[in-house]
Amino acid sequence: MTTFEALGIDARLIQATNELGYVNPTAIQEQAIPVLLSGTKDFIGLAQTGTGKTAAFGLPLLHIIDAAAKYPQALVVCPTRELCMQIVKEIELFKKYMTGVSVVAVYGGASIGLQIRDLKRGVQIIVATPGRLIDLIERKAINLEQIKYVVLDEADEMLNMGFQDDIEFILKNTPSRESTWLFSATMPAEIRKVSKKYMKDPKEVTVGKVNTANKSIDHQYYVTTAQHRYETLKRIIDFNPGIYGIIFTRTKLDAQEISERLTREGYDIDALHGDLTQQQRDRVMGQFRDKSLQLLIATDVAARGIDVVGITHVINYELPDDVEIYTHRSGRTGRAGNLGICISIVHAKEMYKFKQIERINNSQFNKLDIPSGKDVCRKQFFSFMDKLLSADISHGDYETYVPMLAEKFAEVTKEDVLKRVAAMEFDRFLKYYENAEDLNLRERSKRDVNDRSDAGRRRDDRNDRSEGRGDSRKEYSRGSSGSGGFSRLFVNLGTKDGFFKASFLQYILDMSDLKKEVLGKIDMKDMTSWIEIDKGAAQQMIRSLDGKSYKGRRIRMNDADSGGPAGFNKKPRRGEE
Ligand code: AMP
Repeated sequence: MTTFEALGIDARLIQATNELGYVNPTAIQEQAIPVLLSGTKDFIGLAQTGTGKTAAFGLPLLHIIDAAAKYPQALVVCPTRELCMQIVKEIELFKKYMTGVSVVAVYGGASIGLQIRDLKRGVQIIVATPGRLIDLIERKAINLEQIKYVVLDEADEMLNMGFQDDIEFILKNTPSRESTWLFSATMPAEIRKVSKKYMKDPKEVTVGKVNTANKSIDHQYYVTTAQHRYETLKRIIDFNPGIYGIIFTRTKLDAQEISERLTREGYDIDALHGDLTQQQRDRVMGQFRDKSLQLLIATDVAARGIDVVGITHVINYELPDDVEIYTHRSGRTGRAGNLGICISIVHAKEMYKFKQIERINNSQFNKLDIPSGKDVCRKQFFSFMDKLLSADISHGDYETYVPMLAEKFAEVTKEDVLKRVAAMEFDRFLKYYENAEDLNLRERSKRDVNDRSDAGRRRDDRNDRSEGRGDSRKEYSRGSSGSGGFSRLFVNLGTKDGFFKASFLQYILDMSDLKKEVLGKIDMKDMTSWIEIDKGAAQQMIRSLDGKSYKGRRIRMNDADSGGPAGFNKKPRRGEE
């Protein structure tokens, strides 16, 4: 195993990394640092997040910039504010023993005036997010004339977020650029294109397998029915008492609702999504980072670039459509040599998608049984007893109370004391899980689902208010044909109204207060759309939309198949309203 000394890094930087506890360079550092120090102009480093990329470019940058020259020489561009602050923080730590080197963070959502003031102080390294950087370029408040080194960090994330034009703009606005170093977890065609256009014979280094999930992550999944997703999530949380994790949802609505519901039920959780102001976002992230918040629930966009140390679990409440998004989500755990667990809650209809993710990730995913109520209680019980046994009694004046305690408990046996302690702690769990049902989707339950007792059905309704009602049957009867429990609705809204499929879906769900589980296939045309929906939810949807107005136009929605040609111009029948 090599050392930082052997890589040729400045002694002052080595002193700092030693203090940070870096004993040996990580694989990407070992391969990138000598190349970057040797004066290689263009470089592509392909490595997953959490593999030490910041030091892989940060240390060489600090080594080669001219500390005596007080103008910007290096520019690091990264996708998010969090990552931007994180990179600056790390570079500050690395340069602890170097004098005269200054680094500044430039990102949106913070005072531009203060950033302009910082830039005027004679910085050598600028770390920026694309949007704010372009704002500063256009205001002519930043001098990129003498930038020699440009680092594009998490390039694939930047492209995912739609920053391609911005990156090209930035590259064009660095006229003295000699070296471009691009770091990315994956190598999609768009990045190849950017590299071909702006880089010359880049030296390419790949660490691990690109597009492959981190090996220090244990990928697990639980199979349940769509309407048991929320209960399953709760069970997973309860089964992992020390959990410090991020839960991912596909929509901000889900993130918000699940967060509120879990908070009401006593869980320590908050949501991160696009509707938060920067201040609210900072507050939530601050609490999560300092661990005063145990769980964070987030959408993919809101969670981009989050790098928090020590995350034990990533939970996919819903699977993402894209394998790369799965890799990014799971990459929030299992960082820097720690082990992490990525759990997916999957329902039958999603299995094919899940198998695809498993195949492309090229790693073994482990199917586990959703813990029973008893399993959860046992786990909580032992966790509590472990805590009890490891409680620190060396401080405090406990000895003085011992005689009084002995007197008070004279009649009570040690076993009884333990039982009472357990009862105090566990009543909530025992009561809740007393009659907990099996949430696993089993072969049997597919057949028996029609026969579920009324009591079971009532319990589902209660547990599942915000998940959309319905019966597991729909998981198996659902198809694009609209048969078996589905109605097909016609609506006079389409892509000409400015909708895309996702925004249309969100709109009709918001209007009707229904959950997306009730929907089947949606077929959108310019002016009209057809919506497959659970029979039981169809009237609520029609009632909520028909006759309302959208951008000044009256919405017409009706059952497309109940007579008449595909529902055009057809009013809902009286009795249906
Ligand atoms: P990064 O991929 O740059 O976000 O780094 C992930 C984590 O690994 C950070 O918490 C770094 O502080 C840590 N790290 C980076 N390089 C090393 C190293 N050589 N030895 C130990 N930890 C490291």
